[in-house]
Amino acid sequence: MTSSAPVRVVWSREMLAYDFGHGHPMTSERLDLTIRLAEALGLLTGPDVELVGAQEASDELLQTVHDPAYVAAVHRASADGTPDLSFGLGSNDDPVFPHMHEASAMVVQGSVDSALAVWEGRAEHAVNVTGGLHHAMRSSASGFCVYNDAAVAIVALLDAGAQRVAYVDIDAHHGDGVQAVFWDDPRVLTVSLHETGHALFPGTGHAREAGGLGAEGTAVNVALPSGTGDAGWLRAIDAVVPAVVREFAPDVLVTQHGCDTHLLDPLTHLRVSLDGQRRAAELLHDLAHEVAGGRWLALGGGGYAVVDVVPRSWTHLLGIATHHPVDPSTEVPDEWRSLVRERYGRLGPDRMTDDREARFSPWASGYDPGDDVDRAIRATRAAVFPSLGLDPDHD
Ligand SMILES: [Zn+2]
Ligand SMILES: [Zn+2]
Repeated sequence: MTSSAPVRVVWSREMLAYDFGHGHPMTSERLDLTIRLAEALGLLTGPDVELVGAQEASDELLQTVHDPAYVAAVHRASADGTPDLSFGLGSNDDPVFPHMHEASAMVVQGSVDSALAVWEGRAEHAVNVTGGLHHAMRSSASGFCVYNDAAVAIVALLDAGAQRVAYVDIDAHHGDGVQAVFWDDPRVLTVSLHETGHALFPGTGHAREAGGLGAEGTAVNVALPSGTGDAGWLRAIDAVVPAVVREFAPDVLVTQHGCDTHLLDPLTHLRVSLDGQRRAAELLHDLAHEVAGGRWLALGGGGYAVVDVVPRSWTHLLGIATHHPVDPSTEVPDEWRSLVRERYGRLGPDRMTDDREARFSPWASGYDPGDDVDRAIRATRAAVFPSLGLDPDHD
């Protein structure tokens, strides 16, 4: 690591306000437990880490991605609690909550500040686990997401002078909102690996979705079969992500680390382990150093196993990004386990691992046309590799 700039971690207690309320899967307890675990392991102190909160993004900044009428609707709903279903506000997925605008705008500013800190060399890497709200659309809330912090941060990078930005999304759900914003923009590569839209919200993200006119090959989708575990998931990441990102040669890498791919996640049907997720984060960190001079913004995302998965998964992400990776055999600190016992009346996980090897065989060793995961990988490579100047069979 050659940079002496600190790693920036976005966090303040005010960010707990992004919470859809009692009984909703998107509870901010997931963030609270994550930060408390990372703190208990000593990851958030020291001269090489900068822990910073965020102001609320201005309407002007939000409108670099969002329709002004939508931003105005979020303000109204936030102020008086009135649903406005024409903008997706007040649905079952996206109920209106107090300070919805302020809380959502804070997440956006946190990602934008981080992106610019990385771009300007004030931070070596940056992590915003409150961000990664990838389903938010230009004119509507969707899938627990109000404003699309990832898209606003990418626009901010382009406006600051970045020529090309790559976005890699490993959440169990398709990163549809980010893809939609940059569909026709050849300066932004969006890559999403997710459970197939035939089985899971939002229903999109098929291999043939490959980018608009003039931007062919800059939307990359790997639609994995339900039930895919570590070996298939990591094989898919390895078979697609490094090749397309290297070829695209981005100035900055933005990644979304939704951890709802885990086998314990209540909303999805993938079977990835904590160890698989950690391995993916390592791969993306290494890739950022290799292709983007280390300019890396890592975001959170989905993840609804609030006690058993999210805190450990994103603590590993924080450890990797701050260059203090947590050994998987590490015991979960007693103070954190006591907190879980008090709050939930149950025992939390006791170690930072699921005891999985997280092994996979690389694509180069050959593929099996009878295997569903391999067919999904092959479909993606066939759909986008030629547009990017890559060979679907040999790169
Ligand atoms: Zn998700
Ligand atoms: Zn690094």
